[in-house]
Amino acid sequence: MVLTFVLIFEFKLDNNELIISFIVFATCSKQIMDIETKVVQGLPIHHSSTGSISTPIYQTATFRHPELGRSTGYDYTRTKNPTRDNLESTYAFLESGTVGVSFSTGMAAIAAIFELFSPKDHFIVCDDIYGGSYRFFRESCEKRGLEFTYTNTSLIENIKKCIQPNTKAIYVETPTNPMMKVSDIIEISKLAKEHNLVTIVDNTFLTPYFQRPLELGADIVTSSATKYLGGHNDTLTGLVAVKDSELGERLKFIQNTLGINAAPFDSWLILRGIKTLAVRMERQEKNAITLANWLQEQKLIKKVLYPGLKNHPEHEISKKQSSGFGGMLSFEVASKDLVAKILKNIKIISFAESLGGVESLITYPIVQTHADVPTEMLEKLGVNERLLRLSVGIESPDDLIADLCDAMSC
Ligand SMILES: *Cc1c(COP(=O)(O)O)cnc(C)c1O
Repeated sequence: MVLTFVLIFEFKLDNNELIISFIVFATCSKQIMDIETKVVQGLPIHHSSTGSISTPIYQTATFRHPELGRSTGYDYTRTKNPTRDNLESTYAFLESGTVGVSFSTGMAAIAAIFELFSPKDHFIVCDDIYGGSYRFFRESCEKRGLEFTYTNTSLIENIKKCIQPNTKAIYVETPTNPMMKVSDIIEISKLAKEHNLVTIVDNTFLTPYFQRPLELGADIVTSSATKYLGGHNDTLTGLVAVKDSELGERLKFIQNTLGINAAPFDSWLILRGIKTLAVRMERQEKNAITLANWLQEQKLIKKVLYPGLKNHPEHEISKKQSSGFGGMLSFEVASKDLVAKILKNIKIISFAESLGGVESLITYPIVQTHADVPTEMLEKLGVNERLLRLSVGIESPDDLIADLCDAMSC
């Protein structure tokens, strides 16, 4: 067994004494640590002065300089903060990237990525995209002169047809929101490289626990940590990880310049959430599979969209690129009236926006997350008045089934 030690020294002047804290992690030649271990251990900052297991929250706006020309490495929290540093390096570590950058929300992270580009740059984007991202592209990026083409990126031929001389990047969510379509990250990254394009993946739904786009060839991965990484429906944060360190530095420059970074306390909450990511994802997936199978058997349910089902069109691609199918599923009920009935009568599952937390949430995409997406686009996708999206939590699956069953009088 070969051990690799990575030491990051951090010098601090405290009561005129030099305190050295450091980050150590070891890898063995057999394999880099398993993801279950990585999420729990992260890249802990072991403080030699206290031995604290939890990363301290540096709730400070600014840092004292020892003397002219010397710095602790920290000047001002918008630029750099030790708690946030730890979240960023942990995310990069989990996504197999070199640099991690954190933001106040998932949307801020996406906004920072698009700051890398210039007017007239063109992007190919999956058509079934998170409503907030669509709104950002249309209301902010297009005004800045960026151009977008939306297509079903599950079919590589569609992407090929959309490439133009000014195309700069392919942007995908996989699985998508709310139609649960899956795109082949390996194939897309290959195509992108042939045309000198950047591949960007929004990995919010599966997280690095189930899917690591950078290992599959993507250049930039982003996550709304508000969802599974935080996992408790209590904090908003966005994360980006990249392989290329120069690109990472440009993102850090944007983060500092725009001042859209994650706060120290929020960074700490996300770090704490990540520790239980493995057990939560496993449980949420298990519950989702149980619910998907049950829903499929209900007469009042017309369609169930979940990549874990064998009848899902991209079930095989899913298995190839991800180690799990996640905890998100959508389903179409028999009538619009039934939607209203379910949303009114559910008791354990909450009718609320968002996803990925330990509590189960049900969303009505057409009026909530996708209210800003044009009707024609929604119709084409199949996001209709009968479609509901479920973020399956960690409750007892029997209780969740009973709740849905009671709500729709099945
Ligand atoms: C929620 C979400 C975002 C935006 O994240 P916020 O933290 O709400 O800003 C982006 N992409 C996907 C897939 C999401 O679900």
